[in-house]
Amino acid sequence: MKVTDHIKNANGKTLFSFEIIPPKKGKNIQDLYNNIDPLMEFNPPFIDVTTSREEYIYIEKEGLLDRKITRMRPGTVGICAAIKHKYNVDTVPHVLCGGFTKEETEYLLVDCHYLGIENVMALRGDAMSHQKYFEASKGGHQFAKDLVSQIQNLNCGKYLHDVIEADDKSDFCIGVAGYPEKHIEAPSLQTDLKRLKQKVDAGADYVVTQMFFDNKKYFDFVEEAKKEGINVPIIPGIKPLAVNRHLQLLPQVFKIDLPEDLIKAVENCKNNKEVRQVGVEWAIQQSKELKAENVPVLHYYSMGKSDNVKAIASQLF
Ligand code: FAD
Repeated sequence: MKVTDHIKNANGKTLFSFEIIPPKKGKNIQDLYNNIDPLMEFNPPFIDVTTSREEYIYIEKEGLLDRKITRMRPGTVGICAAIKHKYNVDTVPHVLCGGFTKEETEYLLVDCHYLGIENVMALRGDAMSHQKYFEASKGGHQFAKDLVSQIQNLNCGKYLHDVIEADDKSDFCIGVAGYPEKHIEAPSLQTDLKRLKQKVDAGADYVVTQMFFDNKKYFDFVEEAKKEGINVPIIPGIKPLAVNRHLQLLPQVFKIDLPEDLIKAVENCKNNKEVRQVGVEWAIQQSKELKAENVPVLHYYSMGKSDNVKAIASQLF
């Protein structure tokens, strides 16, 4: 079922969902199941599965370094299919512009359609680790908006190059990313919102936000988005802070602010076990306030570990 239909059917009740990361190559999928199992009691109607950018690795060969390209966490669509059938839950593969040609994206979408996957999250992806700025792959899309248009075209039976009579069209529900504290590259929040509106006009059905730790940022964002004419559901993304290093890492990587009270609470912790508890308590408070305002879904970034998300969800669902 489509994410937007799950939201409609909930009749204003806030739903629970989460995002997982595929295991590293060579690791067993059972580890993933072990982290999903404890969260199924909260009845997630859908689970997101991320896609990682490809990266360069250097292999020594006869005294020279041979550069190869690899993807450390492949298997997004396979994992989506496995989870969908094991748990009877909808899955949302993240589809990226970066690292894929338009043709590869078309084949990936055809696979999703055959597997009964009805939702996709359309994202640009970040720059590769050696790049300063994002560069579109040769034959790929530059912006998520263009990827949304490709998916929307497919929904209308329009393939990239083939003129065919499609009698079994896809009908993907399309999610896109939104940034309550603006995307790192956007010159202003207002400009970023205009770009978000373009994604919605191109066919996006809902938005999932970047993590934020101050709910006011989310509420203001939703209000500004409405003024911009964005009328699709905006799902808040919540990440429980888990280690002391997040104080530096999260603002640096995601260009988000952390509230002073949260920083102080983390700084007072003696070890990361205490930090994890602070992160859980902060996320519970955030979630309670968001739920009281009837957000459609509380979507958690689990980062492959379920214990803290379970501790939060058990207070809310
Ligand atoms: P876009 O919407 O294309 O925007 C990127 C930048 O370009 C923004 O600054 C925007 O303002 C600007 N822009 C847009 N259109 C134009 C235009 N026409 N002209 C000029 N500027 C423009 N990354 C992964 O690699 N894998 C994942 O699985 C993944 N999942 C994510 C899930 C969520 C919920 C979120 C919030 C992010 C996720 N990301 C993921 C990270 C995401 O790929 C990065 O944040 C990326 O830098 C931007 O992606 P986007 O889809 O928002 O890009």
